[in-house]
Amino acid sequence: MKNRADSMLADLKRAGLKLTPQRIAIVREIADDLTHPTAQALFERLRTTFPTMSFATVYNTLDALAGCGLMGKLALGPDSRAVRFDPNTEVHHHAVCDGCGSVVDIPVETDEPAVLPLAATLKGFRVLREERTYRGLCDRCSRS
Ligand code: ZN
Ligand code: MN
Repeated sequence: MKNRADSMLADLKRAGLKLTPQRIAIVREIADDLTHPTAQALFERLRTTFPTMSFATVYNTLDALAGCGLMGKLALGPDSRAVRFDPNTEVHHHAVCDGCGSVVDIPVETDEPAVLPLAATLKGFRVLREERTYRGLCDRCSRS
C-alpha cells in the first residue's frame, strides 16, 4: 500500500508541478505531520538537511498543494505568518489551545453541514462546507 507522502507526490505531479528533490522533501516532511505546522516550522526542520532551501520554496510548495486541494490551510490568527498547514483533507473540525497554540483534529461523523441555522439568516446562501474551531486549553495547559 502506498503511503500518504507517495500519493500526495503523485497528485502534485498530476497537478503539473515538477517534483524537485526539495519539493519531495517538503511533502515527505508534512505528509504524516498532524500537528498543523506553519511553513516557518517546516522550513526550520528542513534547513538542517537542505541548507540551500529558501522559506519561499517551502511556503510556495505548501500553497500549491493547498491550491490543488491536497492540503488544508488554516488561518487561525490575523498574522499570515501564522497560517498552519494540514495534510488531512477530510472534512473535520479543530480544537485550538490558547495556551500553547496546539491544534488538534476533531473528526466529524457527517460531511453534511448544519444548514438550518444559516438558512434562516442568510437567504440564498449555499453552504458548501462547515469548518468549526473550538478554542480553549489543552489537557496539559489546563493543569498548569
Ligand atoms: Zn496547550
Ligand atoms: Mn486538521
